Amino acid sequence: KKLPLDPSEEQGVRQVKGACFSRVTPQPLTKPRFVAVSHQALALLGLDGEEVVNDPLGPEYFSGSKVMLGSEPAAHCYCGHQFGQFAGQLGDGAACYLGEVKVPSGQDPELLRENPSGRWEIQVKGAGLTPYSRQADGRKVLRSSIREFLCSEAMFFLGVPTTRAGSVVTSDSRVIRDVYYNGHARHERCSVVLRIAPTFIRFGSFEIFKPADEFTGRQGPSYGRDEIRGQMMDYVIEMFYPEIQQNYPDRVERNVAFFREVVLRTARLVAQWQCVGFCHGVLNTDNMSILGLTLDYGPYGFMDRFDPDFICNASDNSGRYSYQAQPAICRWNLVKLAEALAPELPPDRAEAVLEEYLDLYNRFYLENMRKKLGLLKKEDPEDEIMITKLLQTMHNTGADFTNTFRSLSLISCPTEENSEGEEDSVKKATDLLIEQCASLEELKAANKPTMDPRDLAMLLSMAQSNPTLFQMISDRATIARQLERLSKLKDLMETTQEELKTKQAEDWTSWITQYRKRLARELEGQSDVQAVQEERVRVMDSTNPRVILRNYIAQNAIEAAENGDFSEVQRVLKVLEKPFSSQPGLELPAWVGGGGTSAEGERD
Ligand code: AMP
Ligand code: MG
Ligand code: MG
Repeated sequence: KKLPLDPSEEQGVRQVKGACFSRVTPQPLTKPRFVAVSHQALALLGLDGEEVVNDPLGPEYFSGSKVMLGSEPAAHCYCGHQFGQFAGQLGDGAACYLGEVKVPSGQDPELLRENPSGRWEIQVKGAGLTPYSRQADGRKVLRSSIREFLCSEAMFFLGVPTTRAGSVVTSDSRVIRDVYYNGHARHERCSVVLRIAPTFIRFGSFEIFKPADEFTGRQGPSYGRDEIRGQMMDYVIEMFYPEIQQNYPDRVERNVAFFREVVLRTARLVAQWQCVGFCHGVLNTDNMSILGLTLDYGPYGFMDRFDPDFICNASDNSGRYSYQAQPAICRWNLVKLAEALAPELPPDRAEAVLEEYLDLYNRFYLENMRKKLGLLKKEDPEDEIMITKLLQTMHNTGADFTNTFRSLSLISCPTEENSEGEEDSVKKATDLLIEQCASLEELKAANKPTMDPRDLAMLLSMAQSNPTLFQMISDRATIARQLERLSKLKDLMETTQEELKTKQAEDWTSWITQYRKRLARELEGQSDVQAVQEERVRVMDSTNPRVILRNYIAQNAIEAAENGDFSEVQRVLKVLEKPFSSQPGLELPAWVGGGGTSAEGERD
């Protein structure tokens, strides 16, 4: 219901003060119907996917068109730092909380460890206006809903902590997203994803208590409401971190332990993203889960050819949320969380905990990378260098991130019984890896500066004329990387395809030779060489996925669904449920280079 606005409130948006949620009513859709359901996610709620699909009321309830008896729908009020600036009140503008479902008895104990609260929060995303919709309509379209649905489930099956998606429903209700699409307004179908998580509380949930921001002057709507902050912390810790609640009778110590656990989970999460080549795209503090889950699938992207500067968000001009920026950005977000938790969390204690972040991240990353390379028996200080070199080689040769890692288990360990000579083995492995390297033209395209050339030129001239201003608005490292790309591009302009092929083979031969030496060291002192080899292959092939949700795979499924054929979404989900094994008869279109991101699919 529209209430009169307080004239002091910016942009005609009502600030919801002194509360962290508002009751809302989801808006019904016309003729809702299922596009796909995730049987595994629905099983969390004790539901049978088959029964749900066959229930004529299924799409009604799963889209919020009908609300179950006892459900009290609500929208959560949160704030956030967006692209480095405090943005004030944001809140669930399109998502609507429906309630909580008790974990059915007999549920997987592994899952219970991940969700000690004993219940699942369920949400419909795209269910219409809330007090937090601002200028938007609270709806989501088929493109973005399919993307969220597929990736939530894909991440879970890759073993990456994430919120889940139970279903995606589409309808005959329509909204306009693109007024100038091919010269006329484009009406898209309203669609809704049923989201499931222990909780959707995020860093931004605590930022509603923020006093005036030093840059924007904005403050959180519940500024000064210490009692609500305390209650919210109690709730999160008691429900989701019960061990901490039990082990720390002292409130401050409890809060520090809680913050340390959030830091640890965040470091672990981002390490996992890096290891599967996932880029989130919008790492604003309102998209950072307080449980360390991947949260809010918008313009995300999995990398095809490895590129540390990979940016998947078309509106991220500066590369703030690029692939290689993710670990540091997550730390920055943790700093903002710490600020929001003060005075419950003393700043000096928070700072000490934040000091641990980088080491934690490096530890998780290295541990994961060692598995990806099959280095299980020994830890070698040189391993980090070898991993860096591998990534450099991938970047230089334009190799595919996923396929390269998956190929590594085919490289044999050098053993005395090996019948073939060292040279033959290296050649065989090199052939395998250079097969999927980029051609000259593809590599040129891949090395274009990621920053708009006009922005880059402007920053460079500013660096000369006004160094102080330059320092205030830009990051030297970003500029340096852009210049590096330009110089690489220049080199490529002077190279022939033949020369490139030779160089690519040399690069890979050199890395593979080093890798095989390292593998030989794994076998030192091992009596059962065969067993070590088998374990290596087994671990590698259950850490390096065969399939990931590449952009063109999602796009393919979206186009089919937009034309009324939902079978491709269901088929893609089936493949992604077993990302480590080959499933005869269930192959996805093979990767043929190119790929990239699509600004088309990402906007919601
Ligand atoms: P995001 O960038 O997806 O994290 O969203 C930022 C803010 O915009 C959040 O407060 C969202 O709830 C809100 N928002 C995103 N999409 C919509 C939409 N279609 N209608 C209303 N609010 C939205
Ligand atoms: Mg969000
Ligand atoms: Mg979003």
